[in-house]
Amino acid sequence: MKNNDCVFCQIVKGLMPATKIYEDDDVLAFLDISQVTPGHALVIPKKHYDNFVSTPKDILSKVMSVTQRISQASLTMLGAKGINVLTNVNREAGQSVMHFHVHIIPRYISDRGFQITMLKNERLSELNLPVLASEIKKGL
Ligand code: AMP
Ligand code: ZN
Repeated sequence: MKNNDCVFCQIVKGLMPATKIYEDDDVLAFLDISQVTPGHALVIPKKHYDNFVSTPKDILSKVMSVTQRISQASLTMLGAKGINVLTNVNREAGQSVMHFHVHIIPRYISDRGFQITMLKNERLSELNLPVLASEIKKGL
């Protein structure tokens, strides 16, 4: 995808409005336009990388550092009782904007939101975990 077509690059360039929370030379954070819970925020590198996997480590570290600060502020200032920090990689995982971003989703008592256990699949309980682990380790 050309960066010109990227909605988050447009926000970085100031061509598209956003409710900004934080900005420095490398990182921008703003509220997600469709709030999963109050305070749902996105943290992005200003430079375009497609996703978490293709982002250089130094940039990733800056994005995660800002993610941590905003998460802390959400707990203290919004009264959130928990936070989900997540990033989707590729369309198969639900990525719809192909510019790396981390979701910060503050969680509140009884917000009836997502839990990772909802993804669990009884049919996968027979998987050979040592074989899966060894396949992953080969790629490290
Ligand atoms: P993902 O599905 O992980 O790619 O998340 C993309 C997120 O970007 C979604 O939660 C959208 O609501 C959000 N989004 C898309 N366009 C905008 C925009 N112009 N300003 C703020 N958030 C946006
Ligand atoms: Zn972009």
